[in-house]
Amino acid sequence: MFSVAHRPRHPMHSTEKIIRKCVAVIGAGPAGLMAAEMLSRHGVRVDVYDAMPSAGRKFLMAGKGGMNITHAEPYADFLTRYGARREQIEPLLNTFTPTDLREWVHGFGIETFVGSSGRVFPAGMKAAPLLRAWLHRLREGDVHFHMRHRWCGWNEDGSLRFETAQDEHPVNADALVLALGGGSWPQLGSDAAWVALLAQRGVDIAALHPANCGFDIAWSTYFRERFVGEPLKSIVATFGEVRKQGECIITSNGIEGGLIYALSAALRDEIERSGSATLYLDLLPDWTAQRVHDEVHHPRGSRSLSSHLQSRLGLKGVKANLLREVLGAQNFANPALLAAAIKALPLKLIAPRPLIEAISSSGGIKFEALDGHLMLRDLPGVFCAGEMLDWEAPTGGYLLSACFASGYAAGTGALKWLHKP
Ligand SMILES: Cc1cc2nc3c(=O)[nH]c(=O)nc-3n(C[C@H](O)[C@H](O)[C@H](O)COP(=O)(O)OP(=O)(O)OC[C@H]3O[C@@H](n4cnc5c(N)ncnc54)[C@H](O)[C@@H]3O)c2cc1C
Repeated sequence: MFSVAHRPRHPMHSTEKIIRKCVAVIGAGPAGLMAAEMLSRHGVRVDVYDAMPSAGRKFLMAGKGGMNITHAEPYADFLTRYGARREQIEPLLNTFTPTDLREWVHGFGIETFVGSSGRVFPAGMKAAPLLRAWLHRLREGDVHFHMRHRWCGWNEDGSLRFETAQDEHPVNADALVLALGGGSWPQLGSDAAWVALLAQRGVDIAALHPANCGFDIAWSTYFRERFVGEPLKSIVATFGEVRKQGECIITSNGIEGGLIYALSAALRDEIERSGSATLYLDLLPDWTAQRVHDEVHHPRGSRSLSSHLQSRLGLKGVKANLLREVLGAQNFANPALLAAAIKALPLKLIAPRPLIEAISSSGGIKFEALDGHLMLRDLPGVFCAGEMLDWEAPTGGYLLSACFASGYAAGTGALKWLHKP
């Protein structure tokens, strides 16, 4: 499908053009760059194309609030984070483990450290120094970057179609790695336009859905206006069998934050099934239900209920108002219902926030459409990696770990393909 002889646009030495193999990698995120590294290390010329003006924009954004590159928990626990796709992701991670990933970062002279939660961060917690060093090394290793090149599918002759601001032109290569990302934060480049391009070629793709996302709740105008942006700290959220401690934030539409992201896949699926999902919040997880009951029922004399809650239970501000918002005035004044709600406040979530706002996406190219080297069964020579595959994982470094590992696997697969007789 791809032939070196037809690569018209790359300024290379003519002898090299004939002898050396070349691979086009589309998508300069962590998955695509890892595939490019793998290939260039083995002497393959790599051309990386990306629609954006610069590489790794989502990777850099991931580094803004503290780049969480992987997780240091025991590997057996680590693997469980990929849920239903563990079977497909595990072989990828086995060839580029979280430990390999840390060592790879150390190879740039950047140390990593383990935070109190077990999350692994590069020193300084930023992505920019790592990306800078990585791009430098790739350029030195015969990786050629073509930014502002939007891939638009294939021409009839099988060449790749790219649009730039100036023109549209065809590119041929010996193999292709697609690492086009999921559908969240499209302003950073991954706009999921590839879904239609690959579906046209018969590739089986699971619909993209928001993952690690916030949810809509029908707040009253009063609550929304007063408490938007307020954090709910040191709470426990329970959905089904899963209990998580952490914090989240009241948004104008509902709720979001790390605690919610951790439960978001199950909540999203429940909303899909039954139209809504009820999340239970324990606002005082360190207190027993009995102690909360006793304090709520303690005689309050002429004091208002609000000052009673504040003085006996330390509940005030957003927590106290959330109780009133959810229970309504009548139930809020009922001590038995109030005490129960403090330990298990039911929040009705009515919709996940849109995909474009989510941290990541679920869905993508189904693993059944790929062989063991991440090559599309119906498009020989085309390998796929990263978030565009059909898997999801919570935040905590699991996303990047699988993106790197799948990029490594796709690069290895392309390398094997090049060496096929
Ligand atoms: C705010 C935020 C914080 C995050 N924090 C973390 C974190 O701390 N830890 C963690 O593990 N994960 C985190 N993630 C998730 C992580 O960044 C992504 O999972 C990861 O970047 C996906 O890598 P990828 O290479 O598959 O795709 P991307 O990084 O999305 O790269 C895809 C590339 O393909 C290009 N592209 C797409 N379509 C085309 C086209 N048609 N033509 C040419 N180029 C195209 C895009 O421009 C983009 O550069 C975070 C995400 C967000 C949004």
